[in-house]
Amino acid sequence: MAMTSPVWRPFTQHALQREAILVTRGEGAWLECADGRRILDAISSWWVITHGHRHPKIVQAIKTQADRLDQVIFAGFTHEPAEALARRLVALTAPGLDHVFYSDSGSTSVEVAIKMALGFFRNRDAARARVIALEHGYHGDTIGAMSTGARSVFNAAYEPLLFDVTRIPFPYAGRERQTLDALEAACRGADAAAFVVEPLVLGAGGMLVYGADTLREMRRICAAHGVLFVADEVMTGFGRAGTLFACEQAGIVPDIACYAKGLTGGSVPLAVTMCSAEIFQAHYSTDRSRTFFHSSSFTANPIACAAALANLDIWESEDVRGRIARLAAMQEERLRRFANDARFSDARRIGTIAALDLRVADSGYLATIGPTLYEFFVSRGLLLRPLGNTIYILPPYCIEPSELDSLYSAIDEAADRFR
Ligand SMILES: *Cc1c(COP(=O)(O)O)cnc(C)c1O
Repeated sequence: MAMTSPVWRPFTQHALQREAILVTRGEGAWLECADGRRILDAISSWWVITHGHRHPKIVQAIKTQADRLDQVIFAGFTHEPAEALARRLVALTAPGLDHVFYSDSGSTSVEVAIKMALGFFRNRDAARARVIALEHGYHGDTIGAMSTGARSVFNAAYEPLLFDVTRIPFPYAGRERQTLDALEAACRGADAAAFVVEPLVLGAGGMLVYGADTLREMRRICAAHGVLFVADEVMTGFGRAGTLFACEQAGIVPDIACYAKGLTGGSVPLAVTMCSAEIFQAHYSTDRSRTFFHSSSFTANPIACAAALANLDIWESEDVRGRIARLAAMQEERLRRFANDARFSDARRIGTIAALDLRVADSGYLATIGPTLYEFFVSRGLLLRPLGNTIYILPPYCIEPSELDSLYSAIDEAADRFR
């Protein structure tokens, strides 16, 4: 089927992976396929599904909104779902995130964040345009987001177009001081504008976890030097890292925050970039040249906003926090058996995410171990998509204990087979 398909799939080498699995239905933590198979969606369909596939309240909200207003230009016009969602997001996030800019994807929300930061300084006649970022970071696949993220085989071809970023070392346990010192030095640079960072866990960089104390220090250093602190919570937001937002765990408020994946419960695309009143005010002027010049066709799509509102309703009316706490505990308990297992290293967990590295000679994303493991798991009816030799479980919050057990058993078996 896929051999004749004109579809060019993402992150896919078609010469090696000709077939794609045809999915016909999603329910809770499960995907149903055209050939009758059921596959456990243990990576939440690329980290987006939070409560489970097709949560009834989200499905209903989408249907109701589609019957009223599908899409409308968002410059000069507005609609209740966007207004209500913005009010609720401002109320839900910590004081200091006062304005909401809508877009459609995590990458775009980061582009918007970078443009807001640069616009802020330009409108104040400050010559600051340098971005600071963390080693192994990932912020999306558009040019600005790629520039900010780690350089690797993923973006080698586009290197000539990527802008220069000051990169500081990842705060591995025991080496946090080096990170903070490097950040301090970078922030002293007269042109330093913004520090863009994934709070507490670097996702695509390999589920690398660091402490809330370090995050708090990073925030303090940026504030001390007038460098804008941009939290990329595209993956960590909406419970993934254990709390509604990861920044809560450090008790910090960023100047700019990006949310996407779980914003609609993962049902339809929507992203927001939230910022302080100060950043909005820097663009507020009767001088039109100070306008924030950004838009996309589907900015604040009403159906997507309605889905996000339903997601917030679910957070208010259901025990999502309890579900997350139970999932975290279940992950911790199962992960523990691999803690002193010579086949693995660095078994780690944050919130609902568990990760561990398979000890193999040939690691790294391009190593064949990643695809080999992926094929094995899929043959067992499990969707796990290792990042090189890093195996991680990032499931919808509705996953059952027995389903988690099947994942850990498969990981155990895979380690024996493929190491
Ligand atoms: C996935 C991700 C992005 C990009 O989001 P898209 O919706 O795929 O564009 C940006 N930042 C982080 C931390 C992510 O995990």
